[in-house]
Amino acid sequence: MILAIQPEETMRSFVERTLFIKGKHSSTEVFRKFPKSPSRADVSIIAEALGWFGCYGLNKMLHRHTNYPFTAVFKNIQDISYSRNEYISYSSFYDSNRNPSGFCPVCVAEDIERLGFSFWRRAHCFKLKVCAEHNVELVKRCPHCDKQFSHGGHDLGVMWKACEGRHLKNCPVTLNTDPFELKKAQIFTDILSFTHHLSEEAVLAVLNEKIHQEGVFEQKIWNSESDRCLGDKIERRLGIVKNARSVNRLPSDEPTDFIIQAIVETYESFADFVCDVKAYGDEIRPIESLLSTYIAGHQESTHFVEENYKHGVGYWSCPFPAKKVWGMWDWRPVYYPCCNFERPKRKGPQPQPELVKNAPPGIYRRQ
Ligand SMILES: [Zn+2]
Ligand SMILES: [Zn+2]
Repeated sequence: MILAIQPEETMRSFVERTLFIKGKHSSTEVFRKFPKSPSRADVSIIAEALGWFGCYGLNKMLHRHTNYPFTAVFKNIQDISYSRNEYISYSSFYDSNRNPSGFCPVCVAEDIERLGFSFWRRAHCFKLKVCAEHNVELVKRCPHCDKQFSHGGHDLGVMWKACEGRHLKNCPVTLNTDPFELKKAQIFTDILSFTHHLSEEAVLAVLNEKIHQEGVFEQKIWNSESDRCLGDKIERRLGIVKNARSVNRLPSDEPTDFIIQAIVETYESFADFVCDVKAYGDEIRPIESLLSTYIAGHQESTHFVEENYKHGVGYWSCPFPAKKVWGMWDWRPVYYPCCNFERPKRKGPQPQPELVKNAPPGIYRRQ
């Protein structure tokens, strides 16, 4: 019997809470072996323990229990996958125990009242300073011994044990007095819980216009060297994204920090920003619709596989074939139902099935 992961709970919090409740010897091996810097494969293993399988399972975990939405919410309109090729890559690391965690004492007290225990929330284990819900300062160091909640300090188990006999819930509450920090926390939290993908081009175009259109913001933005860089960065990336769309070439991924920073600097709320983005006219796609799909490869065009768990098959597609390739234009989109598509009948050498080195993973079939 596996514990239930709580809404907004970080993966590491869930793993450490399981070990605390079940004891180091009685808990399932995957929890005991959860590494200090988990890779994509480790995230999938925990997702599977919860009954979340395949590409969908990995993405559900990334979307609900890590800070991955800060990247994924701003999505290129020609990308139909939630996390690009994360599902078949081995390079990324998530939720390292070196990232300092934090908590809001009011949230902790409310959790204990409601559930009988508390847990570590993803937005509070990030670089924010304030709880968006309670407008109180987040606690990033143990109030009893001043240790950080990360490698070299307290492990996350201190939430359920205590430090020197004193529980974290008895930590003093400090009200936040900086309205900018509150707005920032609210915008970040709204991005984490947003249910749709916003078109990257629409996002950049709206920010670019906003920065140049409003005198006040323009003054503010051009005030310092770093703000000028921000405006330049948005304009440069917008050019890349528009050009890539015109020739059907997915641009390489870029960190989205500058997008989020620009939203925080120029908008009062994330809802206001979303209103402007919607007016741009690009489709606003539900997160749920992209969770089962990953990028299977880039040749001249980007190829996707959508996993279907009812039938246990993958649909391979190339919805946006590159327009400029070897001097040829306008390749038509291709959708292959599974890999057993009918081959053209012709004379001469027939295709021979061959075992490839990096075959896409097998697909789970729901019983
Ligand atoms: Zn709170
Ligand atoms: Zn302590």
